[in-house]
Amino acid sequence: MLEKKVAIITGGTRGIGFETAKLFAQNKAQVIIFGSKEETVLEALDKLKTLDLQVDGYYPNLNDFDAIEKTMKEIIQKYDKIDILINNAGISANKKIEDTSIKEIDQILDLNVKALLYVTKAVVPYMKKQKNGVILNTSSMVSIYGQPSGVGYPASKFAVNGITKSLARELGPDNIRVNAVAPGIIKTDMVARLPKEVIDPLINSIPLKRIGTPNDIANAFLYLASDMASYVTGTILSVDGAAHN
Ligand code: NAD
Repeated sequence: MLEKKVAIITGGTRGIGFETAKLFAQNKAQVIIFGSKEETVLEALDKLKTLDLQVDGYYPNLNDFDAIEKTMKEIIQKYDKIDILINNAGISANKKIEDTSIKEIDQILDLNVKALLYVTKAVVPYMKKQKNGVILNTSSMVSIYGQPSGVGYPASKFAVNGITKSLARELGPDNIRVNAVAPGIIKTDMVARLPKEVIDPLINSIPLKRIGTPNDIANAFLYLASDMASYVTGTILSVDGAAHN
């Protein structure tokens, strides 16, 4: 579905981003993952190589615009174009506001909001020149329902939805589509480590009676990145089994 497309996926070393990198590469895209460290990027690339998938990787500091721009230049020199950007790197929060430090507030907004804007800003000029592009953001179901603690996380994901809807309007005339996927509870490492007594009530509260998989989210990204979604922009696609917590 993605033959000859060049796709960058931030936070591609594990979890949702890794699964999306795998699925995109299986669908014949040239995938480039971004991670926070050389070591985790190389580890992810090795895992993909064992599946016969040739993926490339970089680790620019996502809060350093100059470093991001330099990496994009290198990617353009090597691959000529950037068709798809998935802004997926993100961290979450769960502390009450009075227990949250200023540093923690800055960290979550720096990565989930500012880094997303920086990477997007660095890619848009190339997509405009190509008159073609797809930008996809990883939001969350907390961007619709909020959550009872860790307010920095829904704050960041409400911002992601606002960015998605605004840039869809700004960049539509340049044939650049911008959408987000809002996952529910997804079985990444963090969730997999939770004890049965925490997981079972969670599962019970979800109408589809199961936790989502990274592949459920990767499939949504594949649809939105492909030409099957050529008239879809400005959408926040919930993939959450109708979980409302
Ligand atoms: P994960 O922790 O498994 O992966 C996070 C990725 O982000 C990693 O590849 C990591 O390298 C990268 N990252 C973390 N800090 C970084 C930094 N400072 N600089 C650059 N990269 C950094 O998490 P995941 O669950 O796969 O989450 C991916 C996205 O999905 C996030 O945006 C998250 O908010 C969102 N999400 C996850 C769930 C869930 O239940 N797992 C639910 C809703 C939304």
